[in-house]
Order: sequence, then C-alpha cells, then structure tokens
Amino acid sequence: MAKVAHERDAMAAPDVDVAVIGYGPVGAMLANLLGMSGLSVVVLEREASVYHLPRAVSADGEALRLFQTIGLADELLPRLNTSRNIRHVNAKGQLLLLLTRAGIGPEGWNNAYRFYQPELESILRAGVARFPLVDVRLRADAFALDEHADHVCVRYENLSSGALDVVTARYVIGCDGARSTVRRFMGAALQDLRSHERWIVIDMVLESPPAGVPEAHDENGVVVDAIQYCDPARPTTFIPMPGKRHRWEFMLMPQDDAAAITRAESVYALLAPWNIDPEKSEIERAVVYTFHSALATWWRRDRLLLAGDSAHQTPPFLGQGMCSGLRDVANLAWKLRDVILGRAPDALLDTYQSERMEHVRAFIELAVELGRVIQTTDLEKARQRDHDLVANPTMLRPIMPRLGPGLHNNASAPAGARAAQPRLVDGSRLDDRVGYRFALLAKAHLLETLPTSLRKQLDDLDIAVVTASGEASDYLTSIANEGVVVRPDRYILGVASTPEELEGVVGRIPRMATNAPDIQPVRGAASSS
Ligand SMILES: Cc1cc2nc3c(=O)[nH]c(=O)nc-3n(C[C@H](O)[C@H](O)[C@H](O)COP(=O)(O)OP(=O)(O)OC[C@H]3O[C@@H](n4cnc5c(N)ncnc54)[C@H](O)[C@@H]3O)c2cc1C
Repeated sequence: MAKVAHERDAMAAPDVDVAVIGYGPVGAMLANLLGMSGLSVVVLEREASVYHLPRAVSADGEALRLFQTIGLADELLPRLNTSRNIRHVNAKGQLLLLLTRAGIGPEGWNNAYRFYQPELESILRAGVARFPLVDVRLRADAFALDEHADHVCVRYENLSSGALDVVTARYVIGCDGARSTVRRFMGAALQDLRSHERWIVIDMVLESPPAGVPEAHDENGVVVDAIQYCDPARPTTFIPMPGKRHRWEFMLMPQDDAAAITRAESVYALLAPWNIDPEKSEIERAVVYTFHSALATWWRRDRLLLAGDSAHQTPPFLGQGMCSGLRDVANLAWKLRDVILGRAPDALLDTYQSERMEHVRAFIELAVELGRVIQTTDLEKARQRDHDLVANPTMLRPIMPRLGPGLHNNASAPAGARAAQPRLVDGSRLDDRVGYRFALLAKAHLLETLPTSLRKQLDDLDIAVVTASGEASDYLTSIANEGVVVRPDRYILGVASTPEELEGVVGRIPRMATNAPDIQPVRGAASSS
C-alpha cells in the first residue's frame, strides 16, 4: 500500500479536481454544484446510506433558491410544507416572542419550509447521479491527508473490504461534520460560543394531528406553527413536519437519565400533555443531542477547506445549521470552479472564510441569545422574563447579514447583501434566466449608455446581461440604483448607476492576468482501486 501511495504522490496530475469528504447535505450540495460546473470530483462517505437520526427540519428561502440553482427545487417542493411562525410561549401559554417567517420573501421562495432530512438528502444524492464526473464512494473512511505543492493525497479505508486506498485531488473540502477529520488535519481549533445544552429529539408519526396545540392552528384549524414552550420546568419544542410526522424536542433536566429517557414509556410520558395514543402513533426516532455552538478558527489551509458543521455548529433554535452549511458551499463552489478552470487566482479562495465566517457568526450568536430565553430554568429569571415580554412580545424577523469583506472589500452596502430574485416580464425567475454565473441586471437606459469596451468586458467575463423591467425594475428602484451585479451565489457584488460605476464593480471580479498559465481541469476521476 505504501508503495502505491508513493507512486501516486509522484504523479503529474491529481486524480480529480476536488475531493469532498462527507456526503451529508452540505457535501451533497457541493457535489451538485461542482458537478454542474464540469469539475471532476470524488466524494468519500463513511456511512453506507443517508444518516438516519433526526436532525434538520426547516430550511429558508435562500436554501430553496440554491436547490433551484442546481435544478432540484421542483423535485423537493412536493416534499415540503411551508412554515409560518415559531411562537415562543411561557408556561401559561402567553406569547413572549414571535419568529415570523410567513409568505414569499425576496428570494422568490417562501421564507421558510419544513422537510424530512433523509428525503432532502436523497434528492440531493439522486441529483449528483446526473454528473458523470462525480464519483461517490460510500463506506469510504478518510483517515489521512498528505499535502503537496499542487495536490493533496487522501488516504481512506474501504470499510466494506477493509482495504486501504488513496485518491489525489487539487483541493479537499471537509464536509465531514462536527467531528471533522479534515479540521484536525488543518490544525484548526474550535472557538466555543458557550451553549451546550442536552435535548431529547423525538420524531413521531401520528395517524392524526395532535390535540393540545390550538395556538399552532391557522384560521382553518390546520396545525401550521411551531411552538417553543419556554417553560422553566422543561423547555420544549413542537414542530409540525410534512405529512404525518411531528417533531418534539425536550430539554434534559438535571434529574434525567439520558439513556432511560429515550425508552418508549419515557417518550410517551413526555408527550402526555398532547394526548398521543401509542396505538395510533409510532416513535420513529428518539435521540439525545447536545446542542453545541462553535466556530472553527480558520476554514482554509492551503488546499484544505471546511464547510458545514465541520466549520461551525449552532443550537437549532433558528433552524440555521444546515442552511448555513449550504451557504458555505454556495459561496465556495463557483470560486473553486473559477480557480480550477484557471480563470481566477488561487487567492479568490481566501475570500471564502472572510465572507462566510462573520455571516454565520451572526446566526449562531442570535441562536445562542434566543436559546437563553428558551432555556431559562431559573424560576425567578423566568418570572422576570415573562413579566418583561408578555406585556410587549418581541417580533423577530429572519436576519439577513451582509457577507464579510472578501470580494466587496468593504464597498458600501448593498454590496455583500443578498440579491433579490424578481420575476421577469415573461414570468420566469431571474436565476433561471442567468444560470450559474455572474449577472448584470440593469435598467435599459444604463445598458444603452455602456461603451463598447465595457460591453466586451462583460462578454469576456461571461456576465449574463438582463434588462430590467416590471418587478425587476422595481427591485432596482428599491435599492436606489440603475444596475446590480449579482454573483453566482446570488449575493450582490456591487451596484451602479453609471457606466463608470459599473466598470468599478466589474473590476472587482478577480481574473487571471492574460499571460497566466492555463490550468486545465482534470477530466474524469481515475479509479484508484
Ligand atoms: C436536533 C437538530 C435539529 C436541527 N434542525 C435544523 C434545522 O431545522 N435547520 C437547519 O438548517 N439545520 C438544523 N440542524 C443542523 C443540521 O442537521 C446540520 O447542520 C447538518 O446536518 C450538517 O450537515 P453537514 O453536511 O455539514 O454535516 P453532516 O450532516 O454531519 O454530514 C457529515 C458527513 O460526513 C461523514 N464523515 C465524517 N467523517 C468522515 C470521514 N473521515 N470520512 C468519510 N466520511 C466522513 C459522516 O458520515 C456524515 O455523513 C439541526 C440539528 C439537530 C441535531
């Protein structure tokens, strides 16, 4: 084996452009994005099939828009229900805080959806099968990374046969979850953001919706809202999921035995206030988790990068763990594409952490803060909290932080903010028109004044140009500009009202000098066995 590895290390071209370690939702989304970019990819995943324990249930409009980008939104939609509010109530059922996410948002999708994570992951995996250059190896446990000047050698164990194997890649992305091996090889520490509570998470399949949650009903009596019971005796979450599934989460109290509490009799005892009939229900999964909050100190070292839970972990109170990981790979994939295709310098990859880290920190800190409200078990503090909030409940809307400096380099807002997705006059969505690339959405009179040289520059940079009218024109007016340059991950690179301003924005797209070496992507993953 050592001899094989040595020979491979000496090879001129790596086997693949990118090795993705971990095939959870984040690794699978990355594999789709890289596959549609025409890169060769190997995915190594330790498990034989999709992870079976209960985890994410909600996704935001940004995540749905990313599914749209990879052409899987239509596949996913029938599996979702829409989420309206999360009502935070005290032990008496009085409203303390309303996290409202109802309706279609600026992404062109609902602000929030609920799903069953194994279904969502299966759809992502089926999507990967569309790309012949993406080679998925299950039961493959990556255990060592040897870094070289122009590639990384990934050593893994084939858990089916026990054989050791190796694959070489230009870049390795650790989508390998909270206990990341890649993070350890990078020597990145985890910054503790100080929230580590234990909760039991229970997924139930019920013949009919539960009684006892009238506050979750819509005007037609359908259970739609999630409820966060901020009861100091036992903080509890209730979430209606698609179909017959319902999620309950209960915070473990000091007297609880973490092993005993997952037994059926304990689960039904916890569910007693909702009158769940064991004869008409099934405990699909019940497991105790510690909800961590942490941030890796750095996300890139040379050819190794982190994305998803390997880079950050958050308590689930905002439903943002997976969504943040999806944002990571949305940010990273086009940068990898442009660097590997030789269009952009390797330094473009340094903008990844700079843009993403502060963005995800904002979500984690808000979730931790919310967790403090929800997880109050001190009776006096709970009384004070109720006193403050019942009279004046807080309305919380989804936050939309700006990216860290990275590409916009502290240009004034809205650079670095989310770009809306208006409908075009023919009814199509903006992203469907422009595809997975930079786009200029501009009013006709700005486009008419562009000099030929700038038009050529837009062409050379492969920027899709869309004339704004109707809803798209209203959007530009709302951000007080004539044109907006949108990145492939649908964040705003910059705005412009004159050709000169537009030239400045377009100049921020990193490109190789014309005499730079033409790096070719690796065509096809060589099987290493
Ligand atoms: C109770 C709960 C509720 C949640 N609710 C939400 C929610 O509503 N919304 C939301 O957005 N998020 C939520 N989350 C968070 C979400 O589930 C995670 O953020 C998400 O699953 C992380 O995805 P990932 O792909 O980064 O990591 P994972 O899903 O952990 O995947 C990592 C993969 O890497 C593989 N792997 C690890 N090491 C190796 C190795 N050495 N070699 C090969 N393979 C390896 C693992 O087997 C695994 O398949 C919740 C989490 C919990 C626990």
